[in-house]
Amino acid sequence: MNTLSRDTIAAIATPPGRGGVGVIRISGSAVPALMDTVLRKQLVPRYAHYGPFHDHDGSVLDSGLALYFSAPHSFTGEHVLELHAHGSPVILDMLLRRLLAAGVRLARPGEFSERAFLNDKIDLAQAEAIADLIESTTEQAARSAQRSLQGEFSNRIHQLVEALIQLRQYVEASIDFVDEDIDFLSEGHIAEKLAELLATLRHVRRSARQGCLLREGMTVVIAGRPNAGKSSLLNQLAGREAAIVTEIPGTTRDTLREHIQIDGMPLHVVDTAGLRDSDDVVEREGIRRARNEIHKADRILLLIDDRTPDEAEFLIQGLPADIPLTRVYNKIDLTGRQPAFVEQPGGPAVYLSAKTGQGTEHLRNHLKAAMGYDSEAHDLFISRRRHLDALSRAENLIENAEKQIRISAAELLAEDLREAQNALSEITGEFTNEDLLGRIFSSFCIGK
Ligand code: GDP
Ligand code: ZN
Repeated sequence: MNTLSRDTIAAIATPPGRGGVGVIRISGSAVPALMDTVLRKQLVPRYAHYGPFHDHDGSVLDSGLALYFSAPHSFTGEHVLELHAHGSPVILDMLLRRLLAAGVRLARPGEFSERAFLNDKIDLAQAEAIADLIESTTEQAARSAQRSLQGEFSNRIHQLVEALIQLRQYVEASIDFVDEDIDFLSEGHIAEKLAELLATLRHVRRSARQGCLLREGMTVVIAGRPNAGKSSLLNQLAGREAAIVTEIPGTTRDTLREHIQIDGMPLHVVDTAGLRDSDDVVEREGIRRARNEIHKADRILLLIDDRTPDEAEFLIQGLPADIPLTRVYNKIDLTGRQPAFVEQPGGPAVYLSAKTGQGTEHLRNHLKAAMGYDSEAHDLFISRRRHLDALSRAENLIENAEKQIRISAAELLAEDLREAQNALSEITGEFTNEDLLGRIFSSFCIGK
């Protein structure tokens, strides 16, 4: 990649507003010339220099620290200059205008990271991790983003890609050397190697899914009969009156969404219309939306009135079996049961009162545990839906490849392996298109 062919960009790297220090970052081939005009000297790379920042007429705009990183030993791989001025929006604007007048262009969102990616300083998953690190709202999300940024996630993807390349080489060689007497596909233990690969891939996908939950938060749907106390529970978890609580069944006709945190863990709670047959058009629409929401959830909280606990099994039959479910027995203040969390054969259950709040701690702790929030987090890395999609496409292709072995279809096997490799390479950006890059980097904020 020719780093000299790109123009020189600049942006204020510190957040808007006043502060002790404000940083302007500049990247590109014009940096040495800018040092002459703005600093009136060439800086030694990687040393902090204190001095005046000059306007075009020689007057001093501000004084501060300047740092120079020479290409390719910089974040972007290009010449980079950082000006640490006083953190006044007016000063930073004047400095930025001075740079623009000298032929520098204002950076687009994410353009510094994009250049770092294009100049092979980081891969795509690492570039995304920078954005995730900056945007992280919890300590665990920040630590996980840091691990992705260090390349832990990318390394696992590289290992999978390496294994696929080896398998492909073997399979493609076997296509070229057709020999009636030797079944290359069984001789080479291809099936065992594929099974091994699939196991590793599934493990990575599970970790990535956890990382995705950490980044985006877990979506929990509260389902149950009208009047079970769904809206009351949402209010309890949110700590305020978000949903309307009434004694009239069918009050929650639309779905309600609350973004809450449990000890810093992001959680989206959705209160649904009660599941029941209704003649009311609006309520029926609410119930249809409720079923939609339930299918998208990471976990269902099935709320049951503890006075009629037997209803649970009937209601569960109508819910998707592949989404984890917790039974929540509500209104224990009326039945006199003790608040509790129990792990039953049919799944976890919590006994609580959404009205008095007793037992809701059990539910909070259970949700944290279910998300892996309290677990040893050292092998979690941050990841995105995009990564999960790519991982599951690769998984499907390799499952397909296993079938091709059984029918000795070497060409189809080779094709599945090739596509699986491409799917995985999308994650690190080795196999990707301009559209995807544009979408990813434009979601960054300016100065990154
Ligand atoms: P939803 O239809 O499932 O959303 O139920 P609501 O949250 O609107 O509650 C229905 C009724 O049950 C209201 O009168 C609530 O005050 C009452 N309720 C909800 N939870 C409890 C509880 O834990 N104990 C008692 N005693 N009443 C409750
Ligand atoms: Zn409700």
